[in-house]
Amino acid sequence: MRKGKLNILIKLFVSLAVIAAVVYMNRGNFKRGGITEVHSVINNAGMSLPQSENNSEIKITEMTDSTVYDDPVKLHFDALLVDTHNDLVWQVYNKGADFNVRNSFTHSDIFKFKEGGLDLQVFAVWIPLNKVKSSYDFTMSQIDRLKNFQTQSNGEFEYAKTYDDIIRITGDKKICGLLGIEGGTAVESDIENIQRFFDEGVRYIGLTWNNSNLIATSAKDAVTGGKSGGLTEYGTEVIKKMNETGMMIDVSHLSEAAFWDVIEKSSDPVIASHSNCYSINPHYRNLTDEQIKAIAKSNGYIGVNFYDEFLVQGGKKYGATIDDIISHIDHIKNIAGVDYIGIGSDFDGGISTPSDLNDATQYPELTKKLFEKGYTPEEIKKILGLNFLRVYKQVCG
Ligand SMILES: [Zn+2]
Repeated sequence: MRKGKLNILIKLFVSLAVIAAVVYMNRGNFKRGGITEVHSVINNAGMSLPQSENNSEIKITEMTDSTVYDDPVKLHFDALLVDTHNDLVWQVYNKGADFNVRNSFTHSDIFKFKEGGLDLQVFAVWIPLNKVKSSYDFTMSQIDRLKNFQTQSNGEFEYAKTYDDIIRITGDKKICGLLGIEGGTAVESDIENIQRFFDEGVRYIGLTWNNSNLIATSAKDAVTGGKSGGLTEYGTEVIKKMNETGMMIDVSHLSEAAFWDVIEKSSDPVIASHSNCYSINPHYRNLTDEQIKAIAKSNGYIGVNFYDEFLVQGGKKYGATIDDIISHIDHIKNIAGVDYIGIGSDFDGGISTPSDLNDATQYPELTKKLFEKGYTPEEIKKILGLNFLRVYKQVCG
């Protein structure tokens, strides 16, 4: 009996030693894209894969490996770069831009993404309220336009729905897409539309744009129009439905009153897909320190916006640079921690950009600056993408 137990222990010890040796020998592969190697190592060693929950932990952990970098550009291209807000589909609709052409007049397209090392883009559908009869129908037609990006891309771009899709697609070195909606107007008065959008692949809805709607009061209306009110009764139902569906709640553009209602009512982490810090630039689109801390407390995410009007007081009149983006990143890190920061460029959303970050090809400049300012490779990888992946996994699955 005791001998039998001893044999099992010896076998277990030998197996673990073999696994450790194989993992150690393959450690160079464990950068982004090395996930399949992790799995094959585990499989080759005769181990069954852990539960999917643990699988995901392996994926995120191995992407934050402690590789030492002396070259920020290498770090940039090794890291998974995620941008949580881009309006290119509006430029397609309005100006005939093409995802698969190097457009002269857009901040983004597949060529610019590749050159800038972008791995995952959330495309937002924005609704021109004065031009459309049905916000729902318009949103669905823009989603069709966005889906064309994949068909036209010769296999270089693919949409994800699940967290595991993201890992697979980026692991295959393709650019990965996700869908978002900027303005809960799209939901109209039928709450089941949330599920319909989710089925199409939409994973966040910004509850308002600059206009207030059936769901909530916007920041713009509250501050410049003196409109009071937070979430409506219908808005409260919407939050519940989004939580049930696994749809992320985006609070960028939301009034403060509505923001605090969301914080109180949402059982999931809350995101701001493209927002900055009010204490650096007191603009109604930016988040107060208390709001930033509340998002962090929800285990959520803030994508820092590149629009110069939101970065510095007075915007382009004073000329924003990447240093101003870093100031907002520093501030969130100081008051809430590095785990809640990401990138929400707002490219192609009618913004004027910092002078040294004109379009998606220049993303590496941001990493260089973070590196120069003393951010560690692990912190940089979190900011560039892993923080968003953590929230995505928790909310959307
Ligand atoms: Zn916006």
